[in-house]
Order: sequence, then C-alpha cells, then structure tokens
Amino acid sequence: MFEGLLLRFGDLTLKGKNQKYFVRAVNALIREKLEGLDLRFDFQHDRAYVFFEPQLLSEVVKRLHYVTGLYSYSKISKCEKDIDQIKDISLQLIEEETGKLPTTFKVETKRADKHFPIESTDFSRQLAGKILREAPFLKVDVHDPAMTLHIELRIDGAYIYMNQIKGLGGFPVPMGGKALVLLSGGIDSPVAAFLAMKKGLQIECVHFESTPLTPIESAQKVLDLAAKLARYALHSQIKVLFVPFTALHEEIISNVPEAYNITIMRRMMIRIATGLLKKRDADAIITGDSIGQVASQTIESLSAIQSSTNALILRPLATYDKLDIIQIARQIETFEISNRPFSDCCSIYVPKNPAIRPTDRHSHKYEFGFDFQTKVDQAIKDTIVFTVKQDEVTDIVSKGFILREVLHENTQDEKIDS
Ligand code: ATP
Ligand code: MG
Repeated sequence: MFEGLLLRFGDLTLKGKNQKYFVRAVNALIREKLEGLDLRFDFQHDRAYVFFEPQLLSEVVKRLHYVTGLYSYSKISKCEKDIDQIKDISLQLIEEETGKLPTTFKVETKRADKHFPIESTDFSRQLAGKILREAPFLKVDVHDPAMTLHIELRIDGAYIYMNQIKGLGGFPVPMGGKALVLLSGGIDSPVAAFLAMKKGLQIECVHFESTPLTPIESAQKVLDLAAKLARYALHSQIKVLFVPFTALHEEIISNVPEAYNITIMRRMMIRIATGLLKKRDADAIITGDSIGQVASQTIESLSAIQSSTNALILRPLATYDKLDIIQIARQIETFEISNRPFSDCCSIYVPKNPAIRPTDRHSHKYEFGFDFQTKVDQAIKDTIVFTVKQDEVTDIVSKGFILREVLHENTQDEKIDS
C-alpha cells in the first residue's frame, strides 16, 4: 500500500526560463541527495514522485530535508482504481491522522486517466459519502477543511495522500549564484550560511585564523561546522578558505587605539574577502551580523565596516533575535559545535570599551598608521583552500601541529591561485 512520496517544488511563481532552470536544478539536487538508495523517480513539470520500499522512509525523509527548493512532500499510498479499495486506504490514513477525533475534511480528486468512467467531482462526492458512513466523527467542509484527502486516478492505479510536510523551501543551490560566507566559529555565521544556501546560493566559507594567538581548536570548530553545512551544499561539500590573519592581527593590536580594534579588524576582513571574491568567482560577502547584538553590530559600526568595500555584503540575520537564531542553529546541528568554548580572533583581546559609534573617518586615520595593504595582499595570497565533505570529521587538533602545516599536509588543499 505505501508507495513512496510526492515532492512539491518551491517558489513556482517564477516565470519562463527561470522556472525551467529552477525545476532542473531542484530535480538534480533531489537525485544527488538521494543517491545510492534503491528508488524510482517520476519527474513532472512542477512535482516529482519517488517510489521505494517503506523501510527506506526515514532515510529518504532525512535526506530530503537537505534539498533546498523542496517546498513540501506527502506520503502516498497506491491501490487499484476501485472506489472501495480507495475508501479502505483513505479511512486508514484518516484514522492514523485524527485518532478518530471529530474533525472536518474534503476529498479532492484529480483524474489523470481520462478513460476512468467517473468524473473527478462525482468521484470525490461518492468517496466522501462512503467515508462518512464508516467514520461518523468526520464532517465535510469544502471551504475550510481541517484536512484534505487527495486522490489521483492515474493510468497505473489510484494514488492517495493526505497531509503535506514542509521541506526547506527557498531555491535549489546553486541557482542563486555564488557568495563567500565569513564563518567565525560562533553561533551566528553558520546560521547565516544555511539561510544563504536556502536561497539557492552556492557558498564558500572564509575563516580568518590567528594561530598561535588563537587556539587551533577554533579552526577545528570551523571545519566541523562546514561538515554540517555541506549537507545542504551542491555535491555535499563546501570549500573553506583559511586566511592567515595573525600578522594583521598583531599589527592592529599594536597600532590601533583599543576602542577601534574590532572595527579595524573587521574592515581588514572585509578588504580581504573583497579581494577573494574575484579569485573565487563570487559576487557577495555574507556575515552573521545581527543588529545591536554587540558593539560591533550597531548600525553605525556596520556602516563604518561597510565603508571599507564596494562589494555587496548580505547579512541574513540582521533583524533576527538571538533565540530565533539559536533555534535554527539547533535544527541544523551547528549549535553544539559553535558552543564549544574556544575563542577566535575577535573574541580574544576584546576591548573593554569598544567604540559603539565608530566612523569611517576615524577608521581611516588609525589605518594610516601602518602599511596594511601589503599585509592584506599577502593574506589573500597565502590563503589555503580546504574541501570539507558532508559529516566528515577532519581531526586537526589531536595532531597537535601548527594549523598551516596540517592544512598543507592534507592532499585536498589547494593554494588560492591554483
Ligand atoms: P558569530 O556567532 O557568527 O561569530 P558574533 O555574534 O560572534 O557572530 P562577531 O564576532 O561580532 O559576531 O562577528 C560578526 C561576523 O563577522 C560573524 O558573524 C562572521 O560573519 C564575521 N567574523 C567574525 N570573526 C570572524 C573570523 N575569525 N573568521 C571569519 N569571519 C568572522
Ligand atoms: Mg564571533
């Protein structure tokens, strides 16, 4: 009786070419995420069917929640195009759903098999009548039913399904283009990365590492976070760009008034990220900034940081509350990793009194005090690209090496200019 799932795609308000592109991309993603399982697909213009044995259900559902652009799905049952068989299965589904508590429903029939002798509205009415006779706890409400029983009369049989379970929604990656996410190891930036992917962006992560000023465990967090995020990515892998930030970090600490440390550090990060955009063929920088969360995220601060670039910076979490961010972080399983107690370059040497209203003018003045451009260029040049696969553990901490040696040793690494 259980036959598989009906999958509905996301934002089909898209028109023309874009819609075709969307459907092609989401179909490819569905295939990719379900790869290796024994399934049969039937792709149609705005939906897809996937058929498989019931014991695969939990694995299929788990993987479908990694498909960006998948709007919703429903479990489907199949039987002969015989109204009594259909009624029996429908009753079973309804009883599972309602626990026989009073509620309202309607039947909606789609007759794809035009040779089927009863018209769809007649069929709905007849079936509803039969169901009501055996399930007195139900009432029909055609305008605002609590649940809808869908019947599709197809050439090869009758398909029956009820409730729609929500998928991720959004757009399929990489339909939205490419962006670089500044991934710190904190709670916010992985959530920002996830939301960007949900909108169909292909991402690469950029991490500014200041070893040995900061512990190697911070870099470990970043790799572990990327391994979780890779679940939503194209080909289930994400590239992490490790930028050596120690030299600039030290320069800033010794040259810039304490209150401006964070502002200048951020401006340097943004300058480096801007340089990386072109090398990585990406069009936007994404951060985990959330307005008002800390001194460096007042709009005056964000504005002073923004002034260091002409590049597009997106801040998906700008208006989010922390608790809502944490809820998403739990859902995507990044929260516990982010919560490990290791600091990155922005959480050590946090100034006691950071400037809450820094300005572009003052920033320029303090930056004038040292030759930052050479160091920015050098950092871009020395950036290492590291590929992280879905759920893969890359243990760099237990090796106890210097971060860059470990990264270099790994056969996956590539230099930024390669
Ligand atoms: P998060 O939880 O993402 O670290 P946060 O609230 O701690 O955010 P900040 O530390 O002020 O915020 O950083 C703001 C944003 O700047 C981060 O969300 C991230 O996008 C970027 N960022 C900060 N530090 C780094 C770093 N070392 N490497 C890469 N990006 C960073
Ligand atoms: Mg942080």
